[in-house]
Order: sequence, then C-alpha cells, then structure tokens
Amino acid sequence: RMTFGYFCLSGLDLLGSLPQLTQEKRAGWVEWIYAQQIHPNADGSLSPRCGFRGSPFAGTKHCSSGVSRNSFSRSAHPPAEIDTSHITMTHTALLCLVLLGDDLSRVNAKAIVAALRAMQQPDGSFECYWKAGESDMRFVFCACAISYVLNDWSGIDVEKCIEFIRKCQTYEGGFSQKPNQESHGGSTYCAIASLALMGRIDDGIADKDRTLRWLLFRQEDGFQGRPNKPHDTCYAFWIGGAIDMLGMYHLVDTTVLKFFLSQTYSPKFGGYGKLPGDYPDLMHTYLGLSGLAI
Ligand SMILES: [Zn+2]
Repeated sequence: RMTFGYFCLSGLDLLGSLPQLTQEKRAGWVEWIYAQQIHPNADGSLSPRCGFRGSPFAGTKHCSSGVSRNSFSRSAHPPAEIDTSHITMTHTALLCLVLLGDDLSRVNAKAIVAALRAMQQPDGSFECYWKAGESDMRFVFCACAISYVLNDWSGIDVEKCIEFIRKCQTYEGGFSQKPNQESHGGSTYCAIASLALMGRIDDGIADKDRTLRWLLFRQEDGFQGRPNKPHDTCYAFWIGGAIDMLGMYHLVDTTVLKFFLSQTYSPKFGGYGKLPGDYPDLMHTYLGLSGLAI
C-alpha cells in the first residue's frame, strides 16, 4: 500500500492537484505512514529491520509512537522483534512524507542508516530487507534515494556500490539487475539514477555513448524495456528518465511518444494501461504521467 500511496500522491503532485487536499486528509495519511515505521528493539538497540513496512497486513498493529501490542505478548513492545521493513517501502514512505509537507522529524534516520549498512552485500548491492537473500539494482536505487532524502550517506559504501553498478553494464550498453544478465530499461534507470544521486554519472558509466545508443534504440513510438519486447507506457519514464539524466532528451521523438501515450490512456477510467486498449493501473498511470512530465 505504501508504494501505491506514492504513485497516487506523486501523480497528484505532477497534475498540480496536491494543494486541493484538505489538511485533515494530509494529517491522517502522515499518521498512517508513521504507523508503518519499524522502531528499534525494546532495549533501544538498533535493529537491521528498522525502516518502514508497506502496510499493516501482517505482523503487529502499530501506533505512531512505535509502541504496540500484539497477539504474542500482552506487554507493549516495539515491533522490530517480529516485523521488518522493506527498502522500497522505506524509500516511498519518505517520499510520501515529503510530498505531504512533513518535516521528517519523527523518522528514525539513525536506525534506517544502520539498517542500510546491514543490507549492503559484499558485492556492493543491497537486499530488499535484512537477510532477504534477494539483492539487485532495484534496491541499490532505493538505498541511494533513501540516503539522498535523509542527507546521510554513511549507510552506503559508495565505492563498492559504484563497483557493482559498473559490473552490471552489459556489452549492449544498458544495465542489468545483476552482473552477467540482460540489459533492461528499469535497471538501466536505477543504475543511472543511483549514480546521479551519488554525483558520479561522469565516472560511473564506462561507455556513455553505448548506453545512450541502447536507450535511444528502445524507441519505436513508445519505448520498449528490452529489444524485441512490445512498447509499454512505463518505459516513457524508465528509458525517458535515463536519457534525460544523460542530458540527451532532445534526441527523443516526443511527438510519436505522446501519440503512443494517448493510445494507452483510458478516457473511460482516467488512467494509463500498459499497452493500447489495456485497463489502466496505478503504476502505469503514474509512470505515464511521469514520462509526460519529462
Ligand atoms: Zn510497464
């Protein structure tokens, strides 16, 4: 739910509609977001599980002070003992709070930074949560975005992280989720955005011309995410955003891109689907708007 909330709030922001939300609604959402924060252990020690979870669908009920009761114990205790954050949810929770005008004063930044340190792998990548066993470029981007918003990079070994990103650049020029895999539009965005947030685009990409060539060749009318795949609304942002970060968006044919996006827009439901004629969904609606915003 946290990431769906982000798609909605950021989408409304792109449309200039956020100021129309009442103060009461904003305050209610801010409280709900803080209620998903996983706090340190009962003895005050930091847990690598700290950060934000996506919703209260599993685990304990939360209150925004971080002290809760659950069916396992009658005593109030912080939830890190039996619940865990997720790096994408921490990323989108922070962005939602910023969008809602919150000052982040109740975010336990120290605990989040310590959790990031625990989630970074020996190869420089990040797990989605502590001991998840799944680590790739998506979570590298989340770690960089979190560090950027908190203005604290002490949770990341930046050089190791850049080493991982470099290893993910393929012979095609794009970036893969992990070394020795296929270039993909989403992971290429995550790689370039991570380097941009670290201020290392210039020395982080070994062959920028090859990267740009791979990105530009993904345009048919809309963009595809990989060679020989159908064009898809969301890559207007993933590929378009990557090209923009390289300072070359003027090379995109925006006329045919806008025509493609007009075909994936549903006048009946008011959102974007993946392909022309598809039912709209939140993710493609947000990423379609984001693609147009570039
Ligand atoms: Zn898509």
